[in-house]
Amino acid sequence: MKINGNFDNMVPSYLFAEIAKRVNQYTQSNPDKDVIRLGIGDVTLPLAPVVVDAMIKGAEELGKKESFKGYPDYEGYAFLREAISNYYRGHGVTVDAHEIFVSDGAKSDCGNIGDIFAMDNTVLVTDPVYPVYVDTNLMAGRRIIYADSNEANGFSAMPDENQQADIIYLCSPNNPTGSVYTREQLKKWVDYANKQDAVILFDAAYEAFITEDLPRSIFEIEGARTCAIEFCSLSKTAGFTGTRCGYTIIPKELERDGKNLHKLWYRRQATKFNGVSWPVQCGAAAVFTEQGQKEIKENIVYYQANARIIASALEDLGIWYTGGTNSPYIWLKCPNGMKSWEFFDLLLTKANVVGTPGAGFGKNGEGYFRLTAFGDKAGTEEAVARIKNVLK
Ligand code: PLP
Repeated sequence: MKINGNFDNMVPSYLFAEIAKRVNQYTQSNPDKDVIRLGIGDVTLPLAPVVVDAMIKGAEELGKKESFKGYPDYEGYAFLREAISNYYRGHGVTVDAHEIFVSDGAKSDCGNIGDIFAMDNTVLVTDPVYPVYVDTNLMAGRRIIYADSNEANGFSAMPDENQQADIIYLCSPNNPTGSVYTREQLKKWVDYANKQDAVILFDAAYEAFITEDLPRSIFEIEGARTCAIEFCSLSKTAGFTGTRCGYTIIPKELERDGKNLHKLWYRRQATKFNGVSWPVQCGAAAVFTEQGQKEIKENIVYYQANARIIASALEDLGIWYTGGTNSPYIWLKCPNGMKSWEFFDLLLTKANVVGTPGAGFGKNGEGYFRLTAFGDKAGTEEAVARIKNVLK
């Protein structure tokens, strides 16, 4: 037998595994050091009380014969899909509940969606890039091309009419750079995709962090329903990184190659996915209630305050950065022309602070660095004080 040789085309280790390795090596030789982690994008605040109550109630229902539930619907329970559809309506976007597929998160859907597309499609990603888009397509053997996001375009790459692409991943607010596309910019991508007969895979995992008048959904843009699929997640919105729940929206009219993509995805999910558990869907629906929105907002505001703490320290140090206002990520330029991993090692060993080297997100990330606002306030304050101490 043979294994999938495409694995040889990927970098040997996942970025965050490499970071963990270096941090472990350092802490093993320096057990007395208190290392603060502002690297991996995991949340630290607990689930909202209203979510926990709904999950407990859901679990209790499973414990009684009259309310026990077996396999859920492949596409998610109607009450949760309705709640998500209402949430979109609240932002002025019409998405029918039948167009929503509830899942165990955006990471798996972003990768699994490839099942419905041919392997000889060309995939366009913006660079720096969330590594999942690249690695899942490399595993499948697809060709990947890149659109450059850099300081000159505000880390918001735009389409190049001379480049032919079939599948286009866009992430806004962006991980890792924190940049957000404007409506005008997204309209250009939508027009480009419709003209090219391409499909945009729009990752809105950080939409809840938008504070300014910027698009939260690709479906705010005219023409998107004929070229776009949207992924979203409760991971960062509501602290579901460990609980696992997300959703994918495929407009009913979206077709390519004479096939309906909504129907293909339903077929794929029915074959390979058996749904999200009842208590988790109950908890997810609670996120979209009035009380749920109030409670999760408090957590988001807490993280946004951390972003402000990091941003103002960088301003004091005169370090160029972007992001932080509409995203939990701060993307900064390594001082004194340092390379990303060089700066990583400096912060780890001198400030005992862990960030993420920009080079791990693609060639345009070299010389940049990502800090996240997901830590606790005291830890973030301590981290920036240490960084200031090292860099002043
Ligand atoms: N999409 C982006 C851009 C992310 O940064 C992440 C998590 O870091 C995900 C998706 C993963 O979301 P989930 O936890 O729902 O799988």
